[in-house]
Amino acid sequence: MPFFGFKGGIHPQYNKSATSGCAVERLAVKAGDIVSIPLSQHIGAPAKAVVTKGQQVKKGELIAEAAGFISSPVHSSVTGKVLGIASVIHPMAGRVEGISIEAECDDEDFVPAPDTETFQKAVQAAGITGLGGASFPSHVKLSPPKEVDTLLINGAECEPYLTCDHRMMIERSLDIVKGAVLIQKNLKIKNLIIAIEKNKPASIALFRKMEKEYGFELIPLDVKYPQGGEKQLIKACTDRIVPEGKLPLEVGVIVHNVGTAAAVYDAVEHKKPLFERVVTVTGAVRNPKNLLVPIGTPISRLIEECGGFIGVPRKIVMGGPMMGLAVSSMETPVIKGTSGILVYRQEDLPDLKQTPCIRCGRCVDACPMALVPSAMDRYVVREMYEALEEYHVMNCIECGCCTYVCPARRTLASGFRTSKRHILRMIKEREANNA
Ligand code: SF4
Ligand code: SF4
Repeated sequence: MPFFGFKGGIHPQYNKSATSGCAVERLAVKAGDIVSIPLSQHIGAPAKAVVTKGQQVKKGELIAEAAGFISSPVHSSVTGKVLGIASVIHPMAGRVEGISIEAECDDEDFVPAPDTETFQKAVQAAGITGLGGASFPSHVKLSPPKEVDTLLINGAECEPYLTCDHRMMIERSLDIVKGAVLIQKNLKIKNLIIAIEKNKPASIALFRKMEKEYGFELIPLDVKYPQGGEKQLIKACTDRIVPEGKLPLEVGVIVHNVGTAAAVYDAVEHKKPLFERVVTVTGAVRNPKNLLVPIGTPISRLIEECGGFIGVPRKIVMGGPMMGLAVSSMETPVIKGTSGILVYRQEDLPDLKQTPCIRCGRCVDACPMALVPSAMDRYVVREMYEALEEYHVMNCIECGCCTYVCPARRTLASGFRTSKRHILRMIKEREANNA
């Protein structure tokens, strides 16, 4: 298939060299380490705790069950004792209910997930959620209510600094392919595409060798941010456009991240629950690394493992610099959707003093969703949410391209993110009034 590309986007400094050559290292658990595992690890209903304070648990053991179809179970990431079920820090939601566990040893074994009747149930039982950041329960995506003809495996990793997917593609390429083929076969999907940005030639070479044997098509992607956005990736690889407010299913496509494909393989072939993930730790730390981390581990432990800070940290971001979120506490735990920890010092941060819009139009050219950020910004400032809705702000994917190119340093994307929350509440109220 030809490469169709997508409109807009930017070419930021990628800054991946500090960790792109760093093989994944397992973060060893020490007796006395405490993990805090939020019960909201995913989009949908939080899981319900099934353990009690003081209970002994093993790594991989179920500690919270799914609370409905759009929900995913949670498993212990260490062997140890439950300290309590209480409010814990969540990187996106402030504080949520969670389970704290004190590790007693560095257990290499895990409790396998239970036998299930179907592929989808095996994925749900292992607590698999999207590892690319959105954290949607994977079994839901794998139960499409309509026909899908294309499975797209996302190896773009277009966010600067992050290299966790790249290392997965180097070190677990066969497992990713096998996971993808498992999904393809179980869902009877005709086309399997694995898409990787061209700035990862070593990954591309590995997958190229397996292309014929496993019957997929490898698409090397032009390097442009946000190439890994679902809608941008679908447009670039299939020339299909997902309609506003709709899911990729609408155009017959399912997208899964490379890490999720490997997790599906682990769940089906090894009954391994999702209790750990690879996280890139980079920026102003002494030894940047890619670490395999138990879910619930606090950021402070990752920083310690990387030799501590260089200089004085000013801002710590969970995720990449474009779409990641700043955290306010070093005790914030790694969750299933955490791809990176990025540390900035004051001198690494740009001057963010805003000035009035000069109507240069750069944000309009950069927007990959064909929105008009400069006009939307005027409504954000005035808190005019109905007008923002008319300007299709709900279609904003919060990629940050507009903010990146703005010479007036308008904090465009963060304004749209906050406004979307207001509008969602407005829509819910409207629906309740009309019910
Ligand atoms: S953050 Fe939203 S408005 Fe800005 S470029 Fe991205 S999609 Fe467009
Ligand atoms: S890039 Fe900034 S200054 Fe230029 S039109 Fe957009 S908001 Fe205005």
